Amino acid sequence: MTSGQNMNTELKDILNKAAEFHGHLGPFLTIGVRMGLLAKKTLKSNGFGDLSVTVNTGNKPPLSCVVDGIQVATGCTLGKGNITVTNLSEISAVFHAKRQTIRVKMKTEVFQSLKVELLHGDPKKMEETARKINSIPDAKLFGIEELASKRL
Ligand SMILES: [Zn+2]
Repeated sequence: MTSGQNMNTELKDILNKAAEFHGHLGPFLTIGVRMGLLAKKTLKSNGFGDLSVTVNTGNKPPLSCVVDGIQVATGCTLGKGNITVTNLSEISAVFHAKRQTIRVKMKTEVFQSLKVELLHGDPKKMEETARKINSIPDAKLFGIEELASKRL
């Protein structure tokens, strides 16, 4: 078990890596990182070795920035073939590991309350919005649904 403080350091490290990979630290990148970390914790997975993911954001930024956050947090990458993107245009992803499958979805009410800031906010305030996202605990930010496991 990691203490809250360790978790913060881990999160900070991964966010830094994600920002370097992605080019900027935005709210959707942050959401992706949080989703990936939450899925690993929930599935007790170390990452890409036993994990695969389908991200439902589509390929258009800013929503698709979530994909890069998930890639960095989980180690599931396009090149390794263990990440797939669908065009549902929703902030959700289905994670599969060790015969367990979960869907992590950003709560609609949280998205609605931040929508203007997320989609039409001042680009200069992106990092501020990202920080705001990070101050919201997992349980308030995301819903987790257990899905019947399918063989891949
Ligand atoms: Zn972005």
